[in-house]
Amino acid sequence: MSHVFPRHTKADLPRAIAGDGCYLVDSNGKRYFDGSGGAAVSCLGHSDTAVIRAVQEQVGKLAFAHTGFLTSEPAEALAELLVVHAPGSLDRVYFVSGGSEATEAAIKLARQYHLERGEPERRHLIARRQSYHGNTLGALAAGGNAWRRQQFDPLLIGVSHIAPCYEYGDRAEGESAFDYGQRVANELKTEILRLGPETVMAFMAEPVVGATAGAVPAVEGYFKRIREICDDFGVLLILDEVMCGMGRTGHLFACEADGVEPDILCIAKGLGAGYQPIGAMLCSAEIYDTIAGGSGFFQHGHTYIGHPVATAAGLSVVTQMLGRDLISRCRDMGGQLQASLTDRFGDHPHVGDIRGRGLFRGIELVADRTTKAPFDPTRGLAAKVKRAAFDAGLICYPMSGTRDGQLGDHILLAPPFIITDAQIGEVVDKVDQAISVALALD
Ligand code: PLP
Repeated sequence: MSHVFPRHTKADLPRAIAGDGCYLVDSNGKRYFDGSGGAAVSCLGHSDTAVIRAVQEQVGKLAFAHTGFLTSEPAEALAELLVVHAPGSLDRVYFVSGGSEATEAAIKLARQYHLERGEPERRHLIARRQSYHGNTLGALAAGGNAWRRQQFDPLLIGVSHIAPCYEYGDRAEGESAFDYGQRVANELKTEILRLGPETVMAFMAEPVVGATAGAVPAVEGYFKRIREICDDFGVLLILDEVMCGMGRTGHLFACEADGVEPDILCIAKGLGAGYQPIGAMLCSAEIYDTIAGGSGFFQHGHTYIGHPVATAAGLSVVTQMLGRDLISRCRDMGGQLQASLTDRFGDHPHVGDIRGRGLFRGIELVADRTTKAPFDPTRGLAAKVKRAAFDAGLICYPMSGTRDGQLGDHILLAPPFIITDAQIGEVVDKVDQAISVALALD
């Protein structure tokens, strides 16, 4: 009998015993193609020798040094490498152990920044519906994922949620993509004015919405308008690239594709590529200097921040991505994956949309392609697709609630950047099989 507290108490999970390139192997020898990198984590596959060596060497040299007393070489080197490539004026890196810690730190830093600038009334955070920023209470409050928030609602701080930028579902008939983007971006201005501009501290969004909506990028011009509105009202722009960052969309930082520079940026998942738990919050020189010239102390911290082994893994991962040109590869293979998915499912009666950037792709399943009507949620289609894919030896990330937390189903794909042409074929075949099996179950 197991004493592990699992995610689902009724699931009887196979035991993973090995990782081999893009595959995971269980104790019965069954191989699973990791088509979602777990949850967009394993960007280098499961047996990258350079990262494994970097981790082994670091743990043999220095396993841990508390950042209240000492800094370390890998933390310094990784911060330097990230800042050299980071957009705009991002200049400082606050290392944490995962995505929720990064977004939680971002919310607190935004608040402290305004306090130290002498604007203590700035306390409101605005985010978007159909988003996810993590599971700790602050991060959960920021997210607009109705299903994840529901039972904890009485514990959550008040955060306003404006519309997401979800062209497939929400662009009006006859409206151009650009006009649609401006319309939904302007909801930010309306909400800032409603709350009182002097009370708003930050706006938080995922450049490409991940698990909640299924790889949804914003339309052209949307984030530029968001940036303008934030600037007009002195509101900080926090971009959450925990899932879509670190090369996943074909850019080291996802916001490069949108041509915007945030004040605070959160990364995790692909930064450690699964070899170590690590995340980071990057902030602008202006924010850092305000704290440095004020209290000199960010009122935050966790025991494991800036962990030497975790930062050594992150350093090796980013060095691999840049040195082996894996981000261009991600962009190219992402284009191929999109083309293969479109080829296979472009006329499928129950595939409404195939979208995303790089190797971050979403397939939205619909009951009716013409009306875009979703399936009855009681059917639990996404869960059935997940099960059927797993049985076929494919790990992918289907979710329900694509539209509003309840309606809609999608499949998220985020395979390792080392995926080959033949493996793209394997993924598409297995997704096809899983959709057919799941649809036949009702
Ligand atoms: N932000 C986004 C966009 C995410 O996708 C996630 C996790 O899926 C998080 C934050 C939280 O990250 P973690 O699960 O590492 O705490």
